[in-house]
Amino acid sequence: MVLMRADATAEQIEEVMSRITAHKMQALRLPGDEHIAIGVASAIPPDLREPLTEALSTLPGVDHVVQISRPYKLASREFHRTDTIVRIKGVEIGGAECVVMAGPCSIESREQLFTTARAVQAAGAKVLRGGAFKPRTSPYAFQGLGLEGLKLLKEVGDALGILTITEVMAPEDVPLVAAHADILQIGARNMQNYPLLIAAGKSGHPTMLKRGPSASLDEFLLAAEYLLHHGTQDVLLCERGVHPLDRAYTRNTLDLNAVPVLKQVSHLPVIVDPSHGTGVARYVPAMARAGLAAGADGVIVEVHPCPQQALSDGAQSLTPEQFAGMMEELGKIAAAIGRCLR
Ligand code: PEP
Ligand code: MN
Repeated sequence: MVLMRADATAEQIEEVMSRITAHKMQALRLPGDEHIAIGVASAIPPDLREPLTEALSTLPGVDHVVQISRPYKLASREFHRTDTIVRIKGVEIGGAECVVMAGPCSIESREQLFTTARAVQAAGAKVLRGGAFKPRTSPYAFQGLGLEGLKLLKEVGDALGILTITEVMAPEDVPLVAAHADILQIGARNMQNYPLLIAAGKSGHPTMLKRGPSASLDEFLLAAEYLLHHGTQDVLLCERGVHPLDRAYTRNTLDLNAVPVLKQVSHLPVIVDPSHGTGVARYVPAMARAGLAAGADGVIVEVHPCPQQALSDGAQSLTPEQFAGMMEELGKIAAAIGRCLR
């Protein structure tokens, strides 16, 4: 929508209209009390959106240009009205069932991973999480077991028949990680790493994209658009908390508003991560319940057999017993909103 200045001349208005019609799009005159507005009534091709906006905003007589349609297309419900259900080896994410992903922040050993995986699977988790390549704030912190961790994840996933998810940090690692895990995770810090998004998209592998702690929802959905545009259909959106007002109590603020908003504007399944969202194990079950109640299609939660000894994110990791207790409560929430957990 192009808003003209009150003193815009008939020629200036005509020039704006002809710039629009030159692209074979329909231009609508919308007279107001003082100003005239000109609406672009046709779908604007995505690659024309930015150049056309910039060209129109600088024309004489133009006050400003407002974007009304959403900047993403493939991720939007306008383009794809029905919910996307991601189907992997018999598990459906985004359907009637809420899916729980659980496991350690970092894969530390075969025993740690097997113990955790058996416990979370027995409690109803359908996906085992575990980081092998870890994006750590400090270069001195545990960086993950790398390839050894990937191999352990595959071994445990195959042995127990549970789906797996793990983070990929570098574009060149995408084939390796995709060969070892059912779902790629793109971490919050890498949400706008475009070479990584392109490589993950081209792999066609199911991918969960985590929202950056300062990212707007449009930025988040445009990052998801990269994955879809480059070839992955199976994209999961993960809300994992934004920068908090008060770090004294929680590490991040789980943005629950994002859940119904994302479900409204996008067809992609939404997962919430109350572990990174709060950073405190004690608060994780409440925010997991809240996430499902808000309409999320699943949750991802960190679990460690002995959180005090975890090499990363121990403070936010649940014990297997706490996880089992949380799952009981999540089952009740799911039933209350007409869904189920397993
Ligand atoms: C993680 O899942 O362990 C992780 C590093 O998450 P995020 O990218 O959300 O910080
Ligand atoms: Mn973590």
